Amino acid sequence: TSNVTTTRDNTPLLPQVKNIIAIASGKGGVGKSTTASNLAVALANSGAKVGLIDADISGPSVPTMFNVESEQPAVKQENGKNVIIPIEQYGVKLMSIGFLTPADSAVVWRGPMASSALKQFIGDVEWGELDYLLIDLPPGTSDIHLTMVQTIPVTGAVIVTTPQKVALADATKGLSMFKQSQINVPILGVIENMAYFTPEELPNNKYYLFGKEGGRKLAEKFEVPFLGEIPIVQSIRESGDTGYPAVLKEGVTQKAFSDLAESVAR
Ligand code: ADP
Repeated sequence: TSNVTTTRDNTPLLPQVKNIIAIASGKGGVGKSTTASNLAVALANSGAKVGLIDADISGPSVPTMFNVESEQPAVKQENGKNVIIPIEQYGVKLMSIGFLTPADSAVVWRGPMASSALKQFIGDVEWGELDYLLIDLPPGTSDIHLTMVQTIPVTGAVIVTTPQKVALADATKGLSMFKQSQINVPILGVIENMAYFTPEELPNNKYYLFGKEGGRKLAEKFEVPFLGEIPIVQSIRESGDTGYPAVLKEGVTQKAFSDLAESVAR
């Protein structure tokens, strides 16, 4: 019989990792990868040892967000086994499904393939000692979610949502999934992204483009912590596209992501 929480010689997987945190969302495009990347860098900046697994087969964006698109992880042999060395950038150890596929290729990932890739990222990567291993999950509910909880002891899940009704409806499904007995992962809390917009020339105005406080209300409804909100800021999008996370640049967004990292670490 296979017990996937242990290797064949029965040692638990990732014994040197203190906290495994899943970053999830109901919908795509709500800023899950942006949040995961900035949280990872913020935690590393606070002195923690951090790893980030990009398991988002629908669009692996971690290589772009960390400006390591052309990197290929090295592989070494250890006791007759292949061990993958993660790519390190901005103090974070990275593995992405994007490193396995050539850029611009249209690889169709079937559920089982993606699940076995995640298992490989967990079991065959030299993570070493980590305080936090973040997992950027695909949006919605998938085989990958099930594989994750069957493979490793997940400390908790963070749900990222934007405040509008269609995103909240999907986030609700995501929250329910983590609570269901088959998965049963504690919810660390909800992050509301794209909460409002403030134009530079009107610094005291907040425009709630996607509606007001949807994420906060969702957290209240499920009686889980509300971890904080991130406004819509052009430099957050630019940082993602240029591969230099917003949290590394001084300013409001740096504070917002650092505060979030603190509340996740708590
Ligand atoms: P997901 O992982 O949920 O699919 P991404 O993190 O890839 O979403 O974000 C989708 C797009 O929105 C990216 O171009 C990203 O840079 C941008 N984005 C995310 N959050 C913000 C924000 N708070 N302000 C401005 N742009 C954002």
